[in-house]
Amino acid sequence: MNQHHIEVKVCAKTFAENIRQIRDRVSPAKICVVMKANAYGHGLKVLAPHAIKAGADYIGICTNPEAATLRNLGLEIKLMRLRMGFPDEFEESLNGLNIEEQVGSIEAAEYLSREGCKRGKKVPVHLNIDTGMGRSGFFSNEVDAIAKVCNLPGLEIVGIMTHFATADSEELDFTRKQIKEFYRLRDTLKNNLPPSVLTHTHNSAATVRLTPHCNSLVRVGAACYGVRTSRNFANFSPLKPVMSVKTKVAQVRNVPPGRTIGYGKLFTTQRQSRIASLPVGFGEGYPRSLFNKGVVLIRGHRCPVVGRVSLNITTVDITDIPEEVTWGDEAVLVGCQGNEEITFEELADRFESVHTEINLMAGFMNQVSYRTS
Ligand SMILES: *Cc1c(COP(=O)(O)O)cnc(C)c1O
Repeated sequence: MNQHHIEVKVCAKTFAENIRQIRDRVSPAKICVVMKANAYGHGLKVLAPHAIKAGADYIGICTNPEAATLRNLGLEIKLMRLRMGFPDEFEESLNGLNIEEQVGSIEAAEYLSREGCKRGKKVPVHLNIDTGMGRSGFFSNEVDAIAKVCNLPGLEIVGIMTHFATADSEELDFTRKQIKEFYRLRDTLKNNLPPSVLTHTHNSAATVRLTPHCNSLVRVGAACYGVRTSRNFANFSPLKPVMSVKTKVAQVRNVPPGRTIGYGKLFTTQRQSRIASLPVGFGEGYPRSLFNKGVVLIRGHRCPVVGRVSLNITTVDITDIPEEVTWGDEAVLVGCQGNEEITFEELADRFESVHTEINLMAGFMNQVSYRTS
């Protein structure tokens, strides 16, 4: 274990296997493996070659530095920007980063059209259609504007896409409505779009929960990291978590009843207790709000976090563990130990957040160690 006494492990093999499972599910549709935000905190540089080997057709990114990281590794895979770009970004993209841009406004389309004409080439773009996400793109009733973009010189429409707002929710009616609206527009535009145009609507939740075959490409992030973005995709069992987080016990103490633990005196022992302290806190990315809500695995048992999580120390109640627990014993914050498992989804539920936020904190604050074979 490193000097932080917190070990964030990322298994590239599991990542690749998840991608293969998704590829088998969606084939013959293509896959865009979404690796924005440093591969959801897992590490873009290390994992990107594994994504390609596992069959990714595209890598989804947001920023030019992300694209540059991949190009500097010598990777020539197709890249797709998953948000609207800016002129300075387009410039670098056209000068070698080769990112396929999302186009969701006449302004951006005309800008790229002029750049394409100036350079005597066709700039590959994906039309972004808003069918209910409400963040960006053309509204799906702006048919004339979209048709106009399709006919601009200097552009090649390689894809047409939309993004779902509620594919994680139990209720899929709104997602189905978005799909219907998207394909109705695609049909309306049929004569304006090249026959080979990629249609892509599905994120991880939709890919796993709905039939992906209306798409000719799916954009999957969370699923590749083995994270189920909601309980509602428990039906697709092959996905395995890629990241685990471990630390070790710094001290064990016997604490009599009636003593308070930690800042704010927010927890009082009700019985003769054994309390273990761990050398991690919100400084290492363990969420402060897990106070009295978190759970940690020690000797294969689930142990509740008691008292406030501090900047670098967390306290857990190990009274109910029958075995002896000693200084230096392994404590699992996320991952498996014995027959028990704590997933990022569970932690996110307790934390009232989303798994990605916790992945990011774990991956960001610590040196991640990789298993690549
Ligand atoms: C981030 C993103 C995705 C991936 O979403 P997951 O739920 O992680 O699969 C797909 N499409 C777009 C446009 C995105 O921004």
